[in-house]
Amino acid sequence: MRVLITGGAGFLGSHLCDRFLAEGHTVIAMDNLITGNTANIEHLAGRDNFLFVKHDVTNYIYIEGPLDAVLHFASPASPIDYLELPIPTLKVGALGTHKALGLAKAKGARFLLASTSEVYGDPLVHPQTEDYWGNVNPVGPRGVYDEAKRFAEAMTMAYQRYHQVDTRIVRIFNTYGPRMRLEDGRVVPNFVAQALRGDPLTVYGDGSQTRSFCYVSDLVDGIYRLLLSDELEPVNIGNPVEMTILDFAKAIIELTGSTSEIVFVRPTDMRIKDDPKVRQPDISKARRILNWEPKVSLQDGLKETIAYFKSRV
Ligand code: UDP
Repeated sequence: MRVLITGGAGFLGSHLCDRFLAEGHTVIAMDNLITGNTANIEHLAGRDNFLFVKHDVTNYIYIEGPLDAVLHFASPASPIDYLELPIPTLKVGALGTHKALGLAKAKGARFLLASTSEVYGDPLVHPQTEDYWGNVNPVGPRGVYDEAKRFAEAMTMAYQRYHQVDTRIVRIFNTYGPRMRLEDGRVVPNFVAQALRGDPLTVYGDGSQTRSFCYVSDLVDGIYRLLLSDELEPVNIGNPVEMTILDFAKAIIELTGSTSEIVFVRPTDMRIKDDPKVRQPDISKARRILNWEPKVSLQDGLKETIAYFKSRV
């Protein structure tokens, strides 16, 4: 296949580039580098079957030659990024998805949308199944991301139904691993960097909120399988092992061998407004139709991640 990966210099996008190249495909990575970084793909520079194009996908996308698949992964994805970049976040979810779908339609390519567990908002159904419609505050600080992705899903389904574009939607739950930005503000880089520096780990609120963390290689494998499957409706991909943020902080301290303390903070900015209180994917569908489930334990995944951050702290 010849595939376009938007957001190809980002955390997930760059790991997808690696996977598609390893499977023998040709990859065009596109990124405007507002949160992506060419350091994530510099090891691919000069390869015959790899090309990087710096472009903002909210503008018309021109690609020469045939394309078999378009994977739309461009978007700020960390709460502090989309709080700082609310309009680019809305634009890439709305206009960027439209452009990427238009390209897929023109090329007769399969289209895969990177959607998110944020479409479920602060969920009233737990664990979250794909048929849950969600509980999103459209005017809250997270609304710029959540609603952009919800719009992107609607746009994707419209292109499937009205333009017969062959589409897939993955709803991605919290994912971690090497190439996350140290300063991206999400809990994994924050806690790991704090633990490695001996600084206090900043638990927001009382730490009773839960998340379920998936290692990046497991996520990429689920996405790869979904692209090759016949499933036209959204599919959750994530690790169902759920834990409180307080327990997660303790696990990071243990695995880094840090002497850091844990402090409970309530950021005065909008960071924790509408923070989902629980999150856990129901992955029955992925298990059934993709024969997929995560394989990497939190301990093994965090070891790799800590090693990556160690060289950067
Ligand atoms: N969090 C925290 N301390 C931090 C960063 C995040 O306690 O330094 C919490 C945050 O309030 C949320 C969870 O960790 O409940 C996951 O946050 P993240 O930003 O990683 O992603 P989210 O799942 O909210 O999109």
